[in-house]
Amino acid sequence: MIPASNGVRFGVAGIPHSCPEDSSLRAVDCVASLGLEALELEFVHGLKLGPETARQIKIKSSQQGVKLSAHAPYFINLNAGDQGQRIRSQELLLNSLRLAGVAGASDLVFHAGYYGRQTPEETYSQIKNSLKEILSISRLEKIPVRLRIETMGKRQQFGTLDEVLALCRELEGLFPCLDFAHIFAREGKINSYRDFYQVLKKVERKLGHRALASAHIHISGVIFNQRGEIKHINLDESEFQYDEWLQAIIEVDLKGTIIVESPSLEADALRLKNLYYNLKDKGTSPEHSRTNHDFLDTD
Ligand SMILES: [Zn+2]
Repeated sequence: MIPASNGVRFGVAGIPHSCPEDSSLRAVDCVASLGLEALELEFVHGLKLGPETARQIKIKSSQQGVKLSAHAPYFINLNAGDQGQRIRSQELLLNSLRLAGVAGASDLVFHAGYYGRQTPEETYSQIKNSLKEILSISRLEKIPVRLRIETMGKRQQFGTLDEVLALCRELEGLFPCLDFAHIFAREGKINSYRDFYQVLKKVERKLGHRALASAHIHISGVIFNQRGEIKHINLDESEFQYDEWLQAIIEVDLKGTIIVESPSLEADALRLKNLYYNLKDKGTSPEHSRTNHDFLDTD
């Protein structure tokens, strides 16, 4: 029997493969009967979910105890060269927040955009200004959804760990979605207990313990080249050391939602969840605790 959530919820991005129907409403039941506790609604190809279905999803998820988040469309680019496209991206992000709110999702994850011809600094300031407006409208409308900017896997995309943490420090109401497969793919490293621990401690230093106590995480296997992420793959086909990653999140006492984005979805989500509780039962190895103090970086 898989233990119930103790503050860490494992879930999937989109409809589980074992679900008999291609519907987000039905997916809530499927997630619950798999023994998982979270579902990320995929608005990635557009806002196709009707408001009535969204309302039903909200009711069902609260009955089933499934925590909902949502993922905004991929084609948002808050740093588009074309002003019209930038404005449409802002509107789309706002409409995603509104729809996520109707569906009962507590968090909305989004990809901020591309550097294009601009420097990372210019891109940072453009995206910051866009997000400022979006966050202020969201506050005015009292949309009860946390906006989560994702760490991105391709080097042409805005969203290094440092960029994401800096923006979240600057903008009240903006939170990170830490995608560890993306961080690994982009950097071509960050794939050991020590690396994961350092990343998590950096998040804590920059944003406070709150950021680890209510984290939102994406995880999967990944393949990449010198330009970063190529695609997500299943955990066991990837070099990603998910057992060491689990040790690190246990060590820092991370709580929150872990969304699995492997192609196998629920198979990898259940694999991670089972391993998490096995490792937790055993306790973190003394070797890990002893060495933590030796490699805290200072920035
Ligand atoms: Zn994403």
